[in-house]
Amino acid sequence: MYKEDAMTMHDTHTLRELDHAHYLHPFTDHKALGEKGVRVMVRGEGIYLWDSEGNKVLDGMSGLWCVAIGYGRPTMTKAISEQIDTLPFYNSFFNTTTVPAINLAHRLSQLAPPGFQHVFFTGSGSEANDTNVRMVRRYWDLLGYPDRHVIISRNNAYHGSTMAGASLGGMSGMHEQGGLPIPGIVHIGQPNYCESGVGMTRDEFGVKAASWLEEKILDVGADKVAAFIAEPVQGAGGVVIPPDTYWPEIRRICDKYGILLIADEVITGFGRLGRWFASEPYKPDLITFAKGVTSGYIPLGGVLVSDRVADVLIRQGGEFNHGFTYSGHPVACAAALENLRIIESENLVGRVAGETGAYLKQQFTALADHPLVGVAETCGFVAGLNLVKRKAENVHYQVAFDPALAVGMVCRAHMFNNGVIMRAVGDRMIIAPPLVMTHAQIDEMAGLIRHALDLTLAEVKQRGWL
Ligand SMILES: *Cc1c(COP(=O)(O)O)cnc(C)c1O
Repeated sequence: MYKEDAMTMHDTHTLRELDHAHYLHPFTDHKALGEKGVRVMVRGEGIYLWDSEGNKVLDGMSGLWCVAIGYGRPTMTKAISEQIDTLPFYNSFFNTTTVPAINLAHRLSQLAPPGFQHVFFTGSGSEANDTNVRMVRRYWDLLGYPDRHVIISRNNAYHGSTMAGASLGGMSGMHEQGGLPIPGIVHIGQPNYCESGVGMTRDEFGVKAASWLEEKILDVGADKVAAFIAEPVQGAGGVVIPPDTYWPEIRRICDKYGILLIADEVITGFGRLGRWFASEPYKPDLITFAKGVTSGYIPLGGVLVSDRVADVLIRQGGEFNHGFTYSGHPVACAAALENLRIIESENLVGRVAGETGAYLKQQFTALADHPLVGVAETCGFVAGLNLVKRKAENVHYQVAFDPALAVGMVCRAHMFNNGVIMRAVGDRMIIAPPLVMTHAQIDEMAGLIRHALDLTLAEVKQRGWL
């Protein structure tokens, strides 16, 4: 374990007590966390983080899929503090706007795929997906099809945690709490080849998984469906990389029935998959963004609106009764402008598409030779590996651990305690590292991962789980 000097030392014990006494964390069992004790993160620099005990960890998750440019970038500090000095807040209601909001809207229209010239700003990805629900329903209302209000999504999708976001998402644990999904949102299967592609090639399975959309459209009634929403690569669901045949089929089916296609690019936008927007080749009608737009330095989200939708919203006139106090927040927009400048000037999108993306693939997929690792795959700068009890050449013959053993959580703890952050989704270990990583840092990360896998293997053996 790395140790920092005393300068960064904190009274961890007191911080933990106060945290437990007052702070309810997102997606957390408060009781269990209180027993374990929370980890207090205190500093970030580049791709590394330090906790209150002085431990240094390599952040394989970019915070929470967002810190593309790494921590502690001085020009971000400057852009943000200058904007706070000049105008820390003003809204965009009541016929007003601010300079950073205008400039960011313009910049995004340049970076977006052809045919996108408008943007609606929100404070988060969840709010952006709520905006999508309201915007597509408004679109169909204006066109005279008020019955077209059903939105189709996918099981195990993640679209945020507001009422509409969690309903669009397909996480059963989220739906169980609070009577979700809300009416008018239905789900189809996810294109998870390992789980559902038995007896098929990847390409055959991609077409099959897309056909579930058509089945659902016919089931609901084509004249009732407003839109289909999906992540280009499912993130929180476990970095589920669809077969190459999936998305072209999805586009074809949406076109056949005239329904809008929403690409939720909260994770995949701004270079993570080696393009500014991963969905560009299959021409979505709306694009949700958040996370990487500011590298998480300041919260910001939004929806990129294609001409197909914007023309209807604008041409018909009338107020769209929707928006947030922080829509177009000038400090968040200033942070985004500087973040996007950095991504462009350091050619991060091109690097992920080319050299660093290829190098990550080489180094990460090499982990598949480890006795615990079934599949290890990457797509741009997201990656996932499956921890398995018994390996086999054909993924469908691999034997999984009993989920009750929570081997993924055992592995995650070894990772974190030994200098690298990986997330566990069941027994799938995933990363989404900062886009600024160098080859040497990729080597370092792969080495740390391998070491933690060895420790996990030793523990699994010692507990008699193999
Ligand atoms: C994180 C995420 C969201 C939600 O964004 P928040 O800013 O947490 O509300 C929505 N969609 C996807 C794909 C995400 O990964």
